[in-house]
Amino acid sequence: MKTFNIFVIGCQMNKSDSERIRGYLELHGLTEIDNPNQADFVILVTCGVRQSAEDRIFGLIPNWRANNKNLKIVLTGCLALREDVKDKLTGKIDVWLPIYDLPLLGNALGLKKQLDDNYDSLTYLSFEPHYKSNFSAFLPIGNGCNNFCSYCVVPYARGREVCRPYQDILSEAESLIKKGFKEIILIAQNVNSYKSSKDNGEIVDFADLVKMVDQIEGDWWLRFSTSHPKDMSEKLIKTIADGRHTCQYFHFAAQSGDDKILELMNRRYTAKHYLDLVDKIRHYSPEAMISTDIIVGFPGETDKQFNNSKKLMEAARFDMVYISQYSPRPGTVSARLEDDVSKEIKRHRETELNDILRKTALENNQKYLGRIVKVLVDEVEKTKADLLEASGKSADFKSVKFTVADKGLIGQFVLVKITKVREFAIYGEFEQ
Ligand code: SF4
Repeated sequence: MKTFNIFVIGCQMNKSDSERIRGYLELHGLTEIDNPNQADFVILVTCGVRQSAEDRIFGLIPNWRANNKNLKIVLTGCLALREDVKDKLTGKIDVWLPIYDLPLLGNALGLKKQLDDNYDSLTYLSFEPHYKSNFSAFLPIGNGCNNFCSYCVVPYARGREVCRPYQDILSEAESLIKKGFKEIILIAQNVNSYKSSKDNGEIVDFADLVKMVDQIEGDWWLRFSTSHPKDMSEKLIKTIADGRHTCQYFHFAAQSGDDKILELMNRRYTAKHYLDLVDKIRHYSPEAMISTDIIVGFPGETDKQFNNSKKLMEAARFDMVYISQYSPRPGTVSARLEDDVSKEIKRHRETELNDILRKTALENNQKYLGRIVKVLVDEVEKTKADLLEASGKSADFKSVKFTVADKGLIGQFVLVKITKVREFAIYGEFEQ
């Protein structure tokens, strides 16, 4: 029996793609194993968002080749369409697979076809995923992006935005809830530009889609990721605030607090627009957790412009910020600008933003003291003191940790009384 191993680098979309690839290969009778050195095929799901992620693959491939002479390597993900990567890896990859070509993989690997006659006309999202988790699932609602932020490779790597029909999304969500999943995360590069249409021509936007999925009965949570501030509508904010299963957690990337830098990034909103959205979220959903992404050291970013990012962070009082130092990505518009902010200044700016984040996150977390919160447990581990520590997320995406008696709670909702808070986690006692 032939075997495969999947090695995933990068974002939730890559993780979700890997689940579809797993389902697809199992349909062909292959078995997944943990060790790439013993597998017939390794599927490498790559990320090109940062140089460090890209560099990893150049170290992995020669190692696998040295340890496993008969191995076939399939490269998919964000680097599968990059000509410069193809040049660097000439002769080292057996199949270059843009993810939308997944239906062709069986032929490319010489696998026996075990699927029906429609097979060649299927899109990659038609294949049923084999989820890693049995309680939390990423559910893609589309793929690709039309926004062309000047620093981002995604529109080149994944192509233009394609949205799944809302009926397919609904039936996948229903099937997951029926199977007992407790959490569904709707994902796309930009969920809130989602559009589908009904038979009568009526448009279904992302808020409509959320409302439809939210109708599914059961004890489960609905999340989404990630959203662009220019497309974040009041209708969506209200829909999330009013939903029965919708978690009060909004992640939407600010990237900078300076209007000139935002313009150079081609983000198409201002710092004021972003902060107005934060106010709207807090108006409709006062308890919501808000997180963002910020890039420091974009080409030409002056001290004054960086200070505007600090001001935005102070005003928005985020619970979490994913801060990254700018690095040029080949083929993007900003790669043509001089990367003129030194490494040292980028590091320093990242530290300054982290200091603001620690302060606001800790202050925000004070409100949890003494509260009882519902938590979906995703891990139970032994501590150094030989106790079992469970960790999971609350509906508003706080990391919650507490001591338990056994491992059986993974994938379950529990109640935890919060007794201690830190910047990035809250701690408590198991109630039930
Ligand atoms: S919205 Fe911008 S940053 Fe996000 S995937 Fe699209 S181009 Fe990239």
